[in-house]
Amino acid sequence: MTIGGVTVGGNAPVVVQSMTKTDTRDVAATVRQIRELEECGCEIVRLAVPDLEAAEALSSIKRESGIPLIADVHFDYRLALEALKAGVDGLRLNPGNISNPEQISAIVEAARPRSVPIRIGVNAGSMPKKADPAASVPERMAEAALEQIHLLERLDFDLIKVSLKAFDVPTTVEAHRLIAGRMPYPLHLGITEAGPPGTGVIRNALGIGILLYLGIGDTIRVSLTADPREEVVAGYEILKGLNLRQRGPTLVSCPTCGRCEVDLIGLAKQVEQRLAGLDKVIKVAVMGCVVNGPGEARDADVGIACGKGRAAIFKKGEVVRTVEDVDFLEGLMGEVDSL
Ligand code: SF4
Repeated sequence: MTIGGVTVGGNAPVVVQSMTKTDTRDVAATVRQIRELEECGCEIVRLAVPDLEAAEALSSIKRESGIPLIADVHFDYRLALEALKAGVDGLRLNPGNISNPEQISAIVEAARPRSVPIRIGVNAGSMPKKADPAASVPERMAEAALEQIHLLERLDFDLIKVSLKAFDVPTTVEAHRLIAGRMPYPLHLGITEAGPPGTGVIRNALGIGILLYLGIGDTIRVSLTADPREEVVAGYEILKGLNLRQRGPTLVSCPTCGRCEVDLIGLAKQVEQRLAGLDKVIKVAVMGCVVNGPGEARDADVGIACGKGRAAIFKKGEVVRTVEDVDFLEGLMGEVDSL
């Protein structure tokens, strides 16, 4: 399947998504945020469409956006129809909020000629009322998605993507395990309402990471109570941690311990800041002593193994120079820049 030219599912790389946090009716602010997201690697962006004015704004936003747009529609199917008219690349519908078969049929008939995929986005907090109360939450989530999948299939529509989101990590994982073998469509992963970055990134990394490691999932969104660019950065870190995608620098740094005789925490923070804007796929190691330092530094593209007042700088496995402590940062960054 493609969403606005981005391939999703099959053997395609896992796609990193985010969601705008602006008022969609404010075209300028929304376009600005989409461009910021695109610059940091966001590949598909979702926008809330709470009313007709927001739906109508989508065509202007679409004209000025370089990445595919997904309209997130709840309650009123007519907003989905307007979003399709506006030229969005995908729709997200919540079966808990739009489930009337006639309304779904109207959306499908408008999406079909435009080849616009529909994501069936189940959320544990807003499940269909008729869900079996005796079933577990993961079972109810999977059943809600399957019911709407079958409705779309009866309408001969298969441009389907599915998401099953909850705040609880085991619930999310279990819901995906229940559905993964029962339908052939791409899955979008995320832990919803995960909180601010400190805890939210951990929850997302656990939920998304477990599922991706099990071979489940095609697109991801790390939802955070934060600037959406942080969601994209965290998404790539999850993919990098699983060796699924590479983007930008990877910083390896030791936790420090009683053997460390330099301000390694301060050095690592400075290196992290300097690496933040780089596009290069590069591994940089910042190590605090000679125990593990030379090994990790040698293993990285560029590394520094610090000792008291002096450090060895490694490049591609070889010591290229030694530096005094005042030159730790610049010496290391000079080698990064030279690559
Ligand atoms: Fe401690 Fe050295 Fe290991 Fe860093 S590299 S944690 S300073 S032993």
